Amino acid sequence: MHPSNPLHPYSLCLWGQHCYSYKTVVSAFALYALRMDSRTASHILSQIAAFLELRGENPFKARAYETAARGVLALGVDDLSPLLTSGEIGRVRGLGPATLSVIQDLVDTGSSRYLDQLREATPEGLLDMLKIPGLTPEKIHKIHKELEITDLVELEEAAKSGRLAKIRGFGPKTAERILKGIAYSRETDVRALYPHARAEAEHLVALLREHPEITEAAIAGDVRRYREVASGVTIVACCHANAQPEAIAASFTRIGGVKSATGEGTDTVEIHFVDGVMLRLRCVLPEQFAVALWRATGSAEHVELVRARLAERGILLVGDELRDNGSARVPIDDEKSLYRAADLDYIEPELREAEGEIDAAARRALPRLLERGDVRGVLHCHTHYSDGKSSVREMARGAQERGWSYVGISDHSAAAFYAAGLSREKVLAQLEEIDSLNEEFAKIGFRVLKGIEADILADGRLDYGEELLARFDFVIGSIHSRFGMDGPAMTERVLRALDDPFLTVLAHPTGRLLLSREPYAIDVDAVIEKAADVRVAVELNADPHRLDLDWRHLIEAKRRGAIVALGPDAHSVNALDNVEIGVLMARKGWLEASDLLNARDAVGVVAFARGRRH
Ligand SMILES: [Zn+2]
Ligand SMILES: [Zn+2]
Repeated sequence: MHPSNPLHPYSLCLWGQHCYSYKTVVSAFALYALRMDSRTASHILSQIAAFLELRGENPFKARAYETAARGVLALGVDDLSPLLTSGEIGRVRGLGPATLSVIQDLVDTGSSRYLDQLREATPEGLLDMLKIPGLTPEKIHKIHKELEITDLVELEEAAKSGRLAKIRGFGPKTAERILKGIAYSRETDVRALYPHARAEAEHLVALLREHPEITEAAIAGDVRRYREVASGVTIVACCHANAQPEAIAASFTRIGGVKSATGEGTDTVEIHFVDGVMLRLRCVLPEQFAVALWRATGSAEHVELVRARLAERGILLVGDELRDNGSARVPIDDEKSLYRAADLDYIEPELREAEGEIDAAARRALPRLLERGDVRGVLHCHTHYSDGKSSVREMARGAQERGWSYVGISDHSAAAFYAAGLSREKVLAQLEEIDSLNEEFAKIGFRVLKGIEADILADGRLDYGEELLARFDFVIGSIHSRFGMDGPAMTERVLRALDDPFLTVLAHPTGRLLLSREPYAIDVDAVIEKAADVRVAVELNADPHRLDLDWRHLIEAKRRGAIVALGPDAHSVNALDNVEIGVLMARKGWLEASDLLNARDAVGVVAFARGRRH
């Protein structure tokens, strides 16, 4: 139960703690004909925000609704009405008079008049268009006005027939991109980026733990394996020994915010919520929990390989149980004992991808995976000199607060005009500022490293030139233009850049943006091989939208002996925390501290950069 107030059925918990009070949920079904749960209310607030954006209203107004939506979701209650009555709802961050009146309306009538008005003026299908990469609210507005298109089906038709290309400012290329985007968005319907999926999973697992007959609940599936994109949330719940798992699973299909559910009557249900979140829930008895959690964690290929190995040793996997030759149950208390039964070292969930981990576990040769504490500093950071939000000093302070001994500043080079790339004068001014900061920081053993994120130009040269590049402690090279080059040309461009003796780190090597932009055509293996050869570090860009290199390529990079730089690509102090997800992806890519450039100290990093300059 909720720690602050175990008896009050709607104990209010703000930010991070979620407390659907389960007993009340069940008994309240019969009593309340009309109940507004926080997920539904949050979804409606988000829809209002999206409509406001589509109508081109003041962006602050839309953002206020977005903030309110998040605050309300975090409440995690099945009925908002008592919070309104008691006034407690006023404590939710971001709720103002306008958003509050929407909630009041929802609680009183079950719907929002404001949303209805917006809907009348703007077709709902336009909301789906917002999910198409590259379609801004202004563009959607234009499409709707000029072609009277109201949904994705019509949009697709117009793109195919050439009507879309005739709108001023669109053209055949845009139409083609939109077609691709529509296909892409169909594929990625229930998928979410890791941080979103993780937050959702934690929210849901907390809710499950509130159930009086559930003794333990654990996140499994993609989220537990740190997949960069997760298709829904998978949770395994352990029920009391004399409980009925099927009944418990079914009861969750009736909580607030559920749109549809399948599997009722079995111990595994799939629940789709109104806001697109999908929960796969498996409820089991205590003696099944360890094996059930392991199976639900996957991957399917990994489970299959371990199952075969157990079979070779005369142990059969039957449902969520292990049986020996005589069909007697082999008790399994936790995953460790399961791997022991298969004569394997314990394999961390993030490695369970059938990428050679079983062989390594059998040989007692699994990597000693990177840990957060191995990171000693970071290199890829922007400041307000280019498109960052913070000063050099603020970034340095942020790095100090996170326990690092250096921060590398790498603003955009001149060619990146769209990101306020630095003129020569601005570079020199920044270098001077760093010198004086370093004098100040010397006594605490902290250092700001001078760097730059230099554009790799279309012909493979680095922006600036030798004379200026020589002044930096390290140089990051990246592609920010001409994404459309064909594979061989793009590969050649990057291979040429790797020959530049000033290049230290190749940033976001494939240019992908998860769920919105495919990687550009490039021979990643050839790039990794050469980078390893010429001692240029390849980046694990830890912006959660990028996570580039992908963990699959990190495994390859490690195999080829390349050095990896974990870069937050931080454009603000808070974004330094991208390192957290970066460490998870590094682990998923089998990386150890010895593989990471920024597990070295500042002197080591500068020596690595200097080692290439002759
Ligand atoms: Zn970049
Ligand atoms: Zn950057």
